[in-house]
Amino acid sequence: MKYASLNNTNKDQNPVSFQEALVKGLADDKGLYFPTAIPQLDPEFTHNLPAYSKAEIAYRVIAPFIGEEIPEDTLRQIVSETLDFDIPLVHLNDTYSSLELFHGPTMAFKDVGARFMARCLGYFNREKKNRTVRVLVATSGDTGGAVANGFLHVPGVEVVILYPEGKVSDIQERQLTTLGANIKALSVKGDFDACQRMVKTAFLDEEMHHLNLTSANSINVARWLPQMFYYFLAVRQLQQEGNDKPALFSVPSGNFGNICAGIMSYRMGLPMKHFVAATNVNDTIPRYLATGNYTPKTTVPTIANAMDVSDPSNFIRIEALFRETPELLRQHFSSYSFNDRETREAMKTLKDDFGYIADPHGAIGYLGAEKKLPEHKGHKAIFLETAHPAKFKDEVETTLGIRIDLPPQLQAVMHREKEYTSIATYDELKDFLGAL
Ligand SMILES: *Cc1c(COP(=O)(O)O)cnc(C)c1O
Repeated sequence: MKYASLNNTNKDQNPVSFQEALVKGLADDKGLYFPTAIPQLDPEFTHNLPAYSKAEIAYRVIAPFIGEEIPEDTLRQIVSETLDFDIPLVHLNDTYSSLELFHGPTMAFKDVGARFMARCLGYFNREKKNRTVRVLVATSGDTGGAVANGFLHVPGVEVVILYPEGKVSDIQERQLTTLGANIKALSVKGDFDACQRMVKTAFLDEEMHHLNLTSANSINVARWLPQMFYYFLAVRQLQQEGNDKPALFSVPSGNFGNICAGIMSYRMGLPMKHFVAATNVNDTIPRYLATGNYTPKTTVPTIANAMDVSDPSNFIRIEALFRETPELLRQHFSSYSFNDRETREAMKTLKDDFGYIADPHGAIGYLGAEKKLPEHKGHKAIFLETAHPAKFKDEVETTLGIRIDLPPQLQAVMHREKEYTSIATYDELKDFLGAL
């Protein structure tokens, strides 16, 4: 598979390999990489998923995006290591189900993308032991921990994580500042968008070229594409249960990478009904769909802080997925925004009506499903639960009046010392990287 920049108006100009798209992160013209073709899966496969193992499904879904660049055996090994935890679809009643993406090592759905990307990079770097690749990543909360964990001890890779000072939870901060080894954390005075701007600037800075920088944000194709696995596994479970009717998927969205992977799955042939991108009050996309104007505002902090993003990088990929049929975008895709009060109400409803404890992000997913469902009566509504409630312990405990225990994965980081460097400007980032 070849990848072309979405800024590139001439589609045939210099598409790059999977390896190059992975290692560069962003194209030279600042555009996001996008596959030059959308692979089509055999309906015999997509309608009979229970006949295949999880690892077989993941392999068949991702292989066309990689082609010959990673040998089949290695790729099979990479996907089975990536998915060595459960991704259960938990039914709340006959209509609503929660797709729990938080059973990985850092209890964030980003574990899947980070683990996959780290292993691919490790493979491509296998014979270049003396050439360090530096992974530079901005996090609004959960990416950092997942990337730190996924890349820990990968040979030839240094990871530098930028996070907004005071805007991530204590557990999140500990997950990304306590691993040591090849993982470095930078606490940035500013919001997530400021972190993301610094990362983007660094990639385009000629003076940084010799550092072999790459990204591990969802702008990286190797983090973005494996997120398709969740959707295939959810549909597999529905089919296993004898439910062949395509479901509505509501995805709590920040940078829109996860939902974009869902839509890619649909475009490849996975039977799905409709996509809702549910956001917090950072509502650039809901407003864009309503008015046709793309006008990001200053990012507002919310209780679903992993989605405090006002200029979502991946939306352009969603538009690209509907490039030939723009009229289908609105038919298959909606986006709604919910404030903190509504989010807390939803957390209470989920607990009182279904006995289900959701974190704020999952609760926003539920709200999106609830909003759209009347138009798709008789279909199942699946919302993605993107973080374990214990990740947002204080908020969940206060809102629901309960106590929740920290699962062992999270307990393990609580007594470790945080280590980070504070920076405020791009020049300080440059100095830090130069000194590594
Ligand atoms: C990253 C994240 C999101 C948003 O995912 P995107 O792919 O950026 O839209 C939602 N919830 C949680 C808990 C996250 O960590």
